[in-house]
Amino acid sequence: MYRNRNPFPTDQHGWAELLPARPARPALTGKHRVPWTVVGAGVTGLACARRLGELHPDQTILLLDARLVGQGASGRNSGFAVGITHFDGPFDSGKAGEYRRINRINQAGIDALRAQITRHGIECQWREDGIHYAAADHLAIQERENFLPYLEAMEISHTPLDTEMLHSRLGTALYRTGVHVHPGALLHPAALVHGLADSLPGNIVLHEQSPVLAINPGRPLSLELPGGTVQTDKLLLATNNEAAKLGFQRYALTGSTLSGSFTRVLNDAEFASMGSLGEWGILSLHGGGATVRLTADRRICIRNTAEYHGAALLSDAQLAKRQAIHRSGFEARFPQLAHVPFEFAWSGVEGISRNSTNFFGRQQDNIYFAGGYNGSGVSKGTAFGLALAEYASDGQSPLIDDCLASAPAALIPPRPFLDLGALMTVRARFKGVGLDR
Ligand SMILES: Cc1cc2nc3c(=O)[nH]c(=O)nc-3n(C[C@H](O)[C@H](O)[C@H](O)COP(=O)(O)OP(=O)(O)OC[C@H]3O[C@@H](n4cnc5c(N)ncnc54)[C@H](O)[C@@H]3O)c2cc1C
Repeated sequence: MYRNRNPFPTDQHGWAELLPARPARPALTGKHRVPWTVVGAGVTGLACARRLGELHPDQTILLLDARLVGQGASGRNSGFAVGITHFDGPFDSGKAGEYRRINRINQAGIDALRAQITRHGIECQWREDGIHYAAADHLAIQERENFLPYLEAMEISHTPLDTEMLHSRLGTALYRTGVHVHPGALLHPAALVHGLADSLPGNIVLHEQSPVLAINPGRPLSLELPGGTVQTDKLLLATNNEAAKLGFQRYALTGSTLSGSFTRVLNDAEFASMGSLGEWGILSLHGGGATVRLTADRRICIRNTAEYHGAALLSDAQLAKRQAIHRSGFEARFPQLAHVPFEFAWSGVEGISRNSTNFFGRQQDNIYFAGGYNGSGVSKGTAFGLALAEYASDGQSPLIDDCLASAPAALIPPRPFLDLGALMTVRARFKGVGLDR
């Protein structure tokens, strides 16, 4: 029996705070017997449950989340749905097949998200006109020289950008060089998951604030929750790094804590200084560099810290300290907005593995898991969720094959070595970040 004694802490900081209040689905109470249960209502679990609902229209699918929808990483990320992955380092033609496999998964996720958003009229500021990658300091500038050959060899549509072009598009003179990659979308992450959760078909029953505390083996499997129990034939875990709390991937998957801030809404004059595009997203060409957005509602959002913090959110006091780092990255980019205050700060936990792989497949009899996307899970998680539903339904598809081909995870040592190793790995991310932070 797997017994989880850890709580599932949360806070009210994040993108969800920028949205009108949403009525939550009730917590699970009583005894339930269902054929299918999905645990975790982030992008992976929502896609998974929806696909199960389509595949088994006459069956009930239970979808359980420990928190409110939007309070996991899926509602707290920076809102980049990447169509292509940036692999650090020189382009390696021998890995072209692997690059293509991962980009097919990304694209499958974008296609699925676009379809759901369009079909259900989900208002999540979806904007599918690509992503800017930019470099300010020498390591990131060098990395662009690795990235361009990759984009060209993979025939990925893109526009190289120089300092002037970046300045006129984005309103910042910090970046020396960059590239606009045309596949990819921007979105409001909490609005996306709220919209997906609120448009689920009738045979999917969602319960929020319903942590699964233990899984008892057997046929059916038996789940323990604070308010009740569930007997289920198949169990699909979309719990990201918290799979470890239920006894899965404990030595392969952990969490890194990221944090960022939002400004207040810019006024017309401030907004006019922000370049010609009106809305944009910048990913750094340095792994430790800042992720920056000008959002549809005219806020600047900057995320530039990552740390190993026991896979937990930051407290208010810790967030207040991190804001000094957010602030310095913000003012370096937008000195014309130095008077603009931050209005919100937030943190979130991304699932990371030692070798940056993803997790997909059967864990043991009738228990499946997908997750751990290392900071790039909006499109990928959606695709993995879809594929997991099909795989657990004994389906076959090229997408399942692509997901199953994920490299095995490198093992991470138990605590306290885990804490030390994770600390070092996350710190290494910032080596040489310089002006890109
Ligand atoms: C600050 C930040 C910025 C990021 N930026 C980006 C970005 O711009 N683009 C991108 O692609 N990715 C980004 N990521 C990563 C991305 O958010 C994740 O990879 C993705 O959201 C993972 O989705 P998921 O559904 O697998 O997991 P989650 O969104 O973490 O959902 C897992 C859910 O499972 C629930 N859960 C866990 N255990 C249990 C249990 N025992 N019982 C019930 N429920 C349980 C949790 O409450 C949670 O809601 C970012 C992450 C962070 C933290």
